[in-house]
Amino acid sequence: MSAWWSNGVRFGCQPLCGKCCDQPGGVVFLTTSDINRMADFHELSFREFIEQHCTKSMNGRVILKSNEKSGICIFLNETKQCSIYTVRPQQCKAYPWWAENLRNEHKWNETKVLCPGIDADDAIIIDGKTIRMHVLADREASKGFRI
Ligand code: SF4
Repeated sequence: MSAWWSNGVRFGCQPLCGKCCDQPGGVVFLTTSDINRMADFHELSFREFIEQHCTKSMNGRVILKSNEKSGICIFLNETKQCSIYTVRPQQCKAYPWWAENLRNEHKWNETKVLCPGIDADDAIIIDGKTIRMHVLADREASKGFRI
């Protein structure tokens, strides 16, 4: 049986939104490619980037640091924009196409409460092949890595 979303889903990320990032306690697992991309962007070495901008999850995977007071990603700026958008981590690129959000239509409707891009007036149909690509990319990124 094919997934409920296999014929496509309406979505269009909304400019100046940033609600998906503006979540205290969010955890972003990173791949080594994510680190390389973000380190290059900041003109840092792989290890320097980890020392300055990363911490570890409970089970030792490398994750992005959050702001100590707000608990929100350190790269979300005052205007709620991602300051590293062009090199953002794979997990961030894959949102809202995370397996947990797509598990069933009920979960998707819950995701819709957070994400105004789902069924937005200017949304376009994202085809099932593209959605699957994001789901797999998120699954891979979620494995993370340890140092
Ligand atoms: S919450 Fe949805 S619409 Fe808003 S920035 Fe994130 S993906 Fe885009």
